[in-house]
Amino acid sequence: MKRITVLGSSGSIGKQTLNIISKMKENVCIEGLAVGSNIKILKSQIKKFKPAAVSVNSLAAAQNLKKWCISNNIKTDVYKGNTGLEKLTTMPKADMILAAIVGAVGLKSIIAAIKAKKDIAIANKEAIVMAGSYIMKLAAENGVSVLPVDSEHSAIFQCCADEKKSQVKRIILTASGGPFHKYDKDFSKITVEQALDHPTWKMGRKITVDSATLMNKGLEAIEASVLFGVSIDKVEIIIHPQSIVHSMVEYVDGSVIAQLSNPDMKLPIQYALTYPERLPSNIKPLNLIEINKLEFYNPDFNKFPCLKLAYYAAKKGYTAPAVMNAANEAAVASFLNKEIKFTDIAKIVGITVKTHKVSKSTSLDTFIEADYWARHYAEKLINEI
Ligand code: MG
Repeated sequence: MKRITVLGSSGSIGKQTLNIISKMKENVCIEGLAVGSNIKILKSQIKKFKPAAVSVNSLAAAQNLKKWCISNNIKTDVYKGNTGLEKLTTMPKADMILAAIVGAVGLKSIIAAIKAKKDIAIANKEAIVMAGSYIMKLAAENGVSVLPVDSEHSAIFQCCADEKKSQVKRIILTASGGPFHKYDKDFSKITVEQALDHPTWKMGRKITVDSATLMNKGLEAIEASVLFGVSIDKVEIIIHPQSIVHSMVEYVDGSVIAQLSNPDMKLPIQYALTYPERLPSNIKPLNLIEINKLEFYNPDFNKFPCLKLAYYAAKKGYTAPAVMNAANEAAVASFLNKEIKFTDIAKIVGITVKTHKVSKSTSLDTFIEADYWARHYAEKLINEI
């Protein structure tokens, strides 16, 4: 029995993870759950999974939850805030932490979990982009596995688990292209509602906007480079609107290995939970006759400047990806609040990344400081718009 703690259990990945776990009761169970503020969802999850402990952000939420547990005769421990999150990640009985908190805020809990020698199923790409070199080094030192949950990275992992990295010639990361792949109108007039209407994947709001700007693919290119230890020059992006081929790995002999399935996050989540085993799942079987054709296109770096910025930051390295990620988080939040235009996202990220002076220190504090600086700088730019 594998015992899992889910950080971010009220989000899209968190909820799908619990749904999968509820169908694999003989193999996997829940040890702990953490949410930000969505107590309503957490209460229903506590009832269903009876975790040993949970964590929420605020004192008020924790007090509410504690009372509720007592009155319902539930013996779940309730923690709060950052210290609560840390406590949850280091619970002795947990075998694996599924890190599904969106954004750089999830970084500290991932580090605490690695130090406590918990394997990590990583859905938080922002943390990898922000401090990937630090996380991977720490994981190696602690003998911890970092298993990808992102569908593309799960695909790459499945295509190269047994091969030697030095034999990888190229990683080909597929992208659906998002809702604006064929859009030929004025990008500055794109509304929040249009950006949130993704053609193939149903996801949380932040990642859906990132998919519309293609920043998501930029973050994923950096994530792939970090997780698989290949230089960013070897990571290529191609648009594949059907989202059937989830990514490919090309080897030095010219052989290309791809992983295919209907687009369904249940598969990569389940694989991360059960690796190295595969268990039956209820995802829709792949019918290539029905799908009929698979298309591939080059991405348009001019139409989607965020993609260009991600490669720029990745090549600069050190603190540049952390800065890009933080500026993007600030800009996307502001776009979702309808304060700035769709095209302002890339502008804000671009100015912030280009203003930043890269620090070559690889300490954790350096990445945290870079994130902090970029967030404030981006917010200053947002206020000037
Ligand atoms: Mg993805």
